[in-house]
Amino acid sequence: MYFRNPKIARSISFFSKPLQGFGARVLGVWGLIFSLSLPAQDLLPKNYFINPLGIPITLAGTFGEIRTDHYHTGLDIRTEGREGLPVHAAAKGYVSRIVVSPYGYGNALYITHPDGFVTVYGHLNRFNNAITTYVKERQYKEEKYIQDITLAQGTFNVNQGDTIAFSGSTGAVEGPHLHFEIRDAKTEDPINPMLAGYTTVDNLPPIIRGIALYPLDDSSTVNGKHQPLYIKTEKKGNYYVLNYSNNISAYGSIGVGINCYDVADKVESHNGPYSKILKDDNDTIYYSRMDILNFATIRYINGHVDYAAIHNRIDTLEYSFLQDNDKLNIYKKLVNKGRIDFKSGKAHNLEYVINDFNGNTSTLEFKVKGDERPSKIYHDTTPYLAIAKWEKPFEYAGKGMKIEIPAGALFNNLHFRYTTDTTNSHTEISPVYNIQDNNTPLSATYTLMLKPNPDLPDSLMKKAVVVRLDGKKKNSIGGKWENGYMTVNPKYFGSYVVMLDLYRPVIKPLNIFEGKDMSHESNIVFEVTDNLSGVSYYRATVDDKWILLQSNPKNNTLYYNFDEHVGKGKHHLRLAVSDAVGNTSVYETEFIR
Ligand SMILES: [Zn+2]
Repeated sequence: MYFRNPKIARSISFFSKPLQGFGARVLGVWGLIFSLSLPAQDLLPKNYFINPLGIPITLAGTFGEIRTDHYHTGLDIRTEGREGLPVHAAAKGYVSRIVVSPYGYGNALYITHPDGFVTVYGHLNRFNNAITTYVKERQYKEEKYIQDITLAQGTFNVNQGDTIAFSGSTGAVEGPHLHFEIRDAKTEDPINPMLAGYTTVDNLPPIIRGIALYPLDDSSTVNGKHQPLYIKTEKKGNYYVLNYSNNISAYGSIGVGINCYDVADKVESHNGPYSKILKDDNDTIYYSRMDILNFATIRYINGHVDYAAIHNRIDTLEYSFLQDNDKLNIYKKLVNKGRIDFKSGKAHNLEYVINDFNGNTSTLEFKVKGDERPSKIYHDTTPYLAIAKWEKPFEYAGKGMKIEIPAGALFNNLHFRYTTDTTNSHTEISPVYNIQDNNTPLSATYTLMLKPNPDLPDSLMKKAVVVRLDGKKKNSIGGKWENGYMTVNPKYFGSYVVMLDLYRPVIKPLNIFEGKDMSHESNIVFEVTDNLSGVSYYRATVDDKWILLQSNPKNNTLYYNFDEHVGKGKHHLRLAVSDAVGNTSVYETEFIR
């Protein structure tokens, strides 16, 4: 059984809301060359930033480790399973952005420092009193829980060490920790905070779990076959060997991939290593190092990992070679894009050198023999409809569907195909469109237009959403009507169908009922769920005045913490909840406080 990184399986979306300036900068060729020449030690000033927590740093996540659709752009600093640890400003500066959200980084603070850096503190339980008061005033004024506030210098100036907030587990997290990030203020590129001189206790070398060999063109083979070969490893003293008794042979253009992770003393988490080197007969042909990332190109990770293996939860392998389209800025050295050319009779001695940030090293050496040229060249005989070239925009119109894939969204040229299945559910109002397949990665969204079955009244059309079918899961991705098509911008290929959401959200009061004396309760809690399109709007009032409902999507709750806005006496509460297509439920009750 291969190790599977649990961090990959988390369905998290850090970019549910675009970051400021996001997308504005796509690293061109010259940018890439420039970043290659930049020594890592110059990226951050040493010992300028202090530890934002008052406890020694242990890490639940490192900079640059593999996550779903992106690399992790900061440190996940452990809080010993606790919430409420004081979070200190890492250096002098001012609070430049405050985010209140149940998604992504949750409650987060951004501090801009005078030397051109921004620090980010995420998953906070709450802010300090001054910031909390400021945010709450704005929430009540705008009658809006979710906030993304940009501030100029002067509102909240901070000195190094000031308590700005308290740690928590808000947003897309599994357990409490502090997400800590350092960005270049001008480019917004996240930089590895370890380069600022932070230290952790880590005397353990990274662990190498396995490798894979990939035939990269139609004439290349591994052990005579045109398919990847996955091999596990075994530890022998200080180094690793392949757990494979047969010879390995290859012909043609071959890529190698690796499954590895870092561990530290007394910490259970599996973190990302700092650097990865692949040598071919002692020459470094691939060298990646996690010093700096770029938000505009971070989704190119999908072409740098064995996407099918990760998507199917088989294994977390990452390539040590490049696809045709790759704009990641993690590469320090590449020879022939990391692709190895095998010829008959010529063996290659390959070696992986994997380092963590503290310089602990693991190595794995293995030999691959050069095979004969295969007598039969591999041919993909599966029928296809068109060839989508990765560097050009691609458009295709079929019966009842249209697709537009922007230039650069694909990693290689693609044999485009789709199939349709008819459905027999009465709420599915189009065929199921199987667009390409789940195993083909994308670096960007594309446009998908689906035409529902004709002759539906307008009143029903308004209740339509496009749904992604993922195994047994049905995930609505919304959609809007354009020229008779439901139009969406999916992140993934896969199966899509237009469905009707005819049901209202369900409101379940968890600690309140008609006439209840709530004097001994600290909050009012509801569980709110929706069958398909999802809860998209909610509003609660007490005696016709808006109250601040917070949301926790992890357990589908909405809750109001009693505050100065509800005094003693008898009150009337009203909660209205709508789904994305406007089906609305209302709950009303009297209560005593
Ligand atoms: Zn994090």
